[in-house]
Amino acid sequence: MSEEKETVKERSSGFISVRDIPGVGSSIADKLEAAGYLSAWSIVVARAEELAEKTGLPVLTVQKIIESARKMLGITFKTAREVKQERLNIGKITTGSKSLDELLGGGVETKTITEFFGEYGSGKTQICHQLSVNVQLTPEKGGLNGRAVYIDTEGTFRWERIEAMARAIGLDPDKVMDNIYYMRAYNSDHQIAIVDELFTFVPKNDVRLVVLDSVTSHFRAEYPGREHLAERQQKLNSHLHQLMRLAEAYNVAVVVTNQVMARPDVFYGDPTTAVGGHVLAHTPGVRVQLRKSKGNKRIARVVDAPHLPEGEVVFVITEEGIRDSEEE
Ligand code: ATP
Ligand code: MG
Repeated sequence: MSEEKETVKERSSGFISVRDIPGVGSSIADKLEAAGYLSAWSIVVARAEELAEKTGLPVLTVQKIIESARKMLGITFKTAREVKQERLNIGKITTGSKSLDELLGGGVETKTITEFFGEYGSGKTQICHQLSVNVQLTPEKGGLNGRAVYIDTEGTFRWERIEAMARAIGLDPDKVMDNIYYMRAYNSDHQIAIVDELFTFVPKNDVRLVVLDSVTSHFRAEYPGREHLAERQQKLNSHLHQLMRLAEAYNVAVVVTNQVMARPDVFYGDPTTAVGGHVLAHTPGVRVQLRKSKGNKRIARVVDAPHLPEGEVVFVITEEGIRDSEEE
């Protein structure tokens, strides 16, 4: 028994099937898989009630499976030194702008959600494209040698931008495009289902960055106005928590965008936007506000992050991608 645990734990960097969980027989495994739970990690991070509901298994059985999966994956008390070691494992992806990287404490981090919010044209989508390219760089150059998943809800992904950005930093554009897995999400249910699938897809495909551009648009369209606000926020929160679990479980960076109006006072019909914006209020993560400035200049500011430097930085959007502003 203990020998078996060791061998499974050794493989814990890669994909571990629910079938590897001690005590899970093939009929239970079939039910888990039919409900979309393929990896042991997806079990560990699931809530028992939800898992029971989706699989039709009794809550007690489900609790035992979760417990067993936790033991197998070695999820238990850690020493402070182990916590330190895990912290050192956090990866950072360069944005292409040194000042923006500094503002973020060295780049966009894994194991967390980074939200870029701002008005139309403020650079949210361009940053998502740039990060999808840069994650593929070597660590010395600011990448994680990894692939990207790009979930597009608005149809604004452009392969031409990926090509141009890759070429600009001396990478083979075709290879870079091969390493970005693109999916259009057609509504909020689809968006949620895609993220469920990522618990299997991410570890199997060396993915280190997951982009959701935008995380909010479907939810806003489907739950409009004040009367749906509570329901929308609740669905969005649960979606964001799922993303947080994904980031932590697989040491990936999750980047989401959120369009907010430049002048909230003229948009009082939508209270979430009117109060200024960001959707991560109840989820841990980093929130970055983007504003338009003169020409191709953009201003970034981190909000509500005591561990990051205060203040604003300027960057530019060029044909080559996100860069430092030369005037700074
Ligand atoms: P929205 O809320 O509408 O989705 P956004 O914040 O995603 O907006 P982006 O699409 O990232 O905004 O930014 C668009 C801006 O990026 C354009 O206004 C333009 O200034 C700049 N841009 C886009 N493509 C290029 C390019 N090829 N060369 C230079 N600048 C570009
Ligand atoms: Mg956009």
